[in-house]
Amino acid sequence: LPYTPAADRYETMSYRRCGASGLKLPAISLGLWHNFGGDSPHENKRAMCQTAFDHGITHFDLANNYGPPPGSAEEAFGQILRYDFHGYRDELIISSKAGYLMWPGPYGEMGSRKYLVASCDQSLKRMGLDYVDIFYSHRFDPETPLEETMGALDYIVRSGRALYVGISSYNSEKTRQAAAILKELGTPCLIHQPSYNLLNRWTEHDGLWGTLDDLGIGSIAFTPLAQGILTKKYLGGIPEGSRATQGKSLLEGMINERSLASVRALNDMAETRGQTLAQMAIAWVLREGRATTALIGASKPEQIVDCAGAVANLEFSADELAEIDRISSE
Ligand code: NDP
Repeated sequence: LPYTPAADRYETMSYRRCGASGLKLPAISLGLWHNFGGDSPHENKRAMCQTAFDHGITHFDLANNYGPPPGSAEEAFGQILRYDFHGYRDELIISSKAGYLMWPGPYGEMGSRKYLVASCDQSLKRMGLDYVDIFYSHRFDPETPLEETMGALDYIVRSGRALYVGISSYNSEKTRQAAAILKELGTPCLIHQPSYNLLNRWTEHDGLWGTLDDLGIGSIAFTPLAQGILTKKYLGGIPEGSRATQGKSLLEGMINERSLASVRALNDMAETRGQTLAQMAIAWVLREGRATTALIGASKPEQIVDCAGAVANLEFSADELAEIDRISSE
């Protein structure tokens, strides 16, 4: 059936300025890392993207290697752009990345100009796009001069392949260096994409948040739900079909009595706040303007509706924040 976006799609979502840039991002963004590969039904992918857009989620995050097989998430999203989102390109922020293994040989991963430019071209072709809104260096490459990697990002913008650039998982020190090079080249670093959630605080220990504030760089926190651990889904055991049963990035061993005890306590707190646990976990990464946007994943449209509801309450009292720190450090 042809898709018509909901007329009220901009009414409940909030849009937050990305660092010191002119670009606003939805408080919640959808990532296509899992459940968008060639092994997942296309109708569910369409339903998830439509549900997201209907709820004001204008930002869709991809990477060259999302699948399996690598590249298939971009191909599926390309179809969705052509058939469902046709006519809405200018309401969407689409990102892709290069850094992880994509093709054999010495030019198929990491941070060389050769790899980044070729990979960006491949991503554009798979999605059927003239340009992406944001293109990322997916990981820091210790063997390539940072000037080369950042120079490739600058070139990708100047050649019209992307509007903005970002970096993912760079530590604070490398972020400062990368941002300085990009500034000099005249292509500012728009955004940083780190992992961040209640149970994963490397960005706090590393000082990344202060660095991003200093430099006027926005942020998009990936795995805000700790791949599903920070939802109700594992409280009663490991359900059939859940990510933990797939033996990929989230392993059953990561869900144990110790982590579940914290999750139960957090769930009680979310209930007291009148939110679901997923909503509270998302609100927490967005609190006090911390992350610009929370980058969720989903396996079903209903999960996206639940997550989008997080924007109704992003406020925490000092007592609540202290209690969350206590529970999550146990
Ligand atoms: P999340 O932490 O949001 O986990 C998503 C999973 O949580 C879903 O697949 C689903 O699990 C479960 N879930 C989501 N919403 C709900 C809900 N309301 N109720 C119950 N369960 C729910 O993020 P991801 O790990 O999926 O990562 C998000 C995105 O971040 C990726 O798609 C990608 O774009 C980006 N990313 C970037 C990386 C990088 O290196 N830059 C690395 C990893 C991710 P289930 O499938 O079991 O139903």
